[in-house]
Amino acid sequence: MAAPPQREDQQTDVVIVGAGILGINQLYRAVQAGYSVRLLEQADGVGGTWYWNRYPGCRFDSESYTYGYLFSVELWQEWDWSEEFAPQPETERYLNRVVDKFDLRRHIRLNSKVTSAVWDEGDATWTTRTEDGFEVRSRYLISTTGVLSVPQYPDVPGREDFAGETYHPVRWPKAPVDLKGKRVAVIGTGSTGVQIGPAIAGEVESLVMYQRSATWATPLNNHPIDADQQAHLKANYEPIKAELDASVGGFLHKPAGKKWVDDTPEQRRAFFESVWNSPGFAKISTNYEDLLFNTDANADWCAFMADKIRGIVNDPATAAKLIPTDHLYVGLRPPYVTGYYEMYNQPNVELVSLRDTPIVKVTETGIETSDGLREFDVIIWATGFDFGTGAMLRMGIVGEGGLTLNDYWADGPLTYLGIMTHGFPNFFFPGGPHGAAGNNPRYGEHQVVFVQDVIDYARDHGQRRIEVPKADEQAWMDMIAQLLPYSSFVKRGQYYGGNTPGKPVAYLLNPGGRPKLDEFMTKAVQSGYQGFLS
Ligand code: NAP
Repeated sequence: MAAPPQREDQQTDVVIVGAGILGINQLYRAVQAGYSVRLLEQADGVGGTWYWNRYPGCRFDSESYTYGYLFSVELWQEWDWSEEFAPQPETERYLNRVVDKFDLRRHIRLNSKVTSAVWDEGDATWTTRTEDGFEVRSRYLISTTGVLSVPQYPDVPGREDFAGETYHPVRWPKAPVDLKGKRVAVIGTGSTGVQIGPAIAGEVESLVMYQRSATWATPLNNHPIDADQQAHLKANYEPIKAELDASVGGFLHKPAGKKWVDDTPEQRRAFFESVWNSPGFAKISTNYEDLLFNTDANADWCAFMADKIRGIVNDPATAAKLIPTDHLYVGLRPPYVTGYYEMYNQPNVELVSLRDTPIVKVTETGIETSDGLREFDVIIWATGFDFGTGAMLRMGIVGEGGLTLNDYWADGPLTYLGIMTHGFPNFFFPGGPHGAAGNNPRYGEHQVVFVQDVIDYARDHGQRRIEVPKADEQAWMDMIAQLLPYSSFVKRGQYYGGNTPGKPVAYLLNPGGRPKLDEFMTKAVQSGYQGFLS
């Protein structure tokens, strides 16, 4: 007979949900500030994204040293990132090292999936419960569950009928998966699918990539960090930290300082060549300043990339399929790749365009598209996430007067700074919806610090309740609406929830980015969080 669930009734100052990059940051700060903290994590290890995504080829596409924590010079000095863009196992090791170095593990309860969190107005506390019966009361509840944590499977007929192995990258098994000599299908060519393909193409018998939308993938341009670069990083902690803290995207990239109209066609080609050879997101942040606001500039960059693709991929028909025709650069989140286009020159790799030949059904042995059945041993569903709100809306959060978060956000999230929502006192969600696109830990760290500061301020002023006034939430939502026309993202993508069937189409990022976040934060801090505390 199974043992009854473990019951521990506890009281603590702060409950944090999720031991990913921001949850660990928040835990570190709350412990440093002297609070009792319980961090609940559904996995059996820490790391969040970098725990779950064990799929072949998974790695950063932000520079490693810009992604890690900046709160400890000692940590900076002792940790050597091996590559400009580190692979997943290294990042998981890093996050475990941080947890141990700062003695945070004793505050973390693993295997603790939150099933409900209910606000009690009477004693101003949250009661949080987990799947295994654990219950904890806390003054503050902080969700750091991330925007990319709930896997999404497509509604394809027969998906469950397939008799071979199936995987979703974000639930990739810990035990090694042997793909050697197998016939493998990858569905989806977003940032995940295009990392998996080249990582396995050399060992599988055959690989078929099923592409619905082509994306503007460009080279990651990764390299090992050599001794000279390592020494440079160690010697420059302060200036690097200062630059990252001030930068809009959270990168060290130097803006071009010019517009497309400033250059001749010949100069543009030469400039685009240098951008193509730059690392990761520098394709955006060091490109022409008007790239995302001037359709001609963007189309010119796309034409350059299309030429590159045609130059790499030997088969013209495959190259043509790989070139997006329905969106410009940063209409969808652009992936950064190593060997992606090159892999299509291998005889064992095939690209199927689902726009030309849609999936009819999945069968016991394979995938039937309108041009026939292909048989597989393995199907990998690299079909993305319920972005932004997926995890928070599965936590059973109930605020003031019994209002559920799911009801309050029925038409899309309503937030203040992407951190708080009206009607849910003492509840914070740094790294949640209405964060910026860019190097997430940098932007998220500002949010983490804001949360810690407002909690400290309430403690120091003898207040026990923090709630964003409706008017302040509305001001933030108005800012989002006002700047939304400047966003380059298309509505069918994850940033509007357009990739998730049944989800309201609502913008899930902050189009004002870090400048607007900092502006609003400064105002709140300078006013002594006026209207927030009681
Ligand atoms: P994604 O960008 O949402 O891509 C999902 C892919 O699956 C798309 O190609 C999508 O096609 C396809 N798809 C979805 N439903 C489908 C269906 N019913 N039939 C056929 N195809 C379908 O998800 P992701 O690739 O996992 O990336 C999500 C985010 O994770 C990224 O934007 C990025 O922020 C992050 N990420 C980062 C890294 C990194 O290097 N650091 C790596 C991986 C992921 P459509 O586009 O047509 O919908």
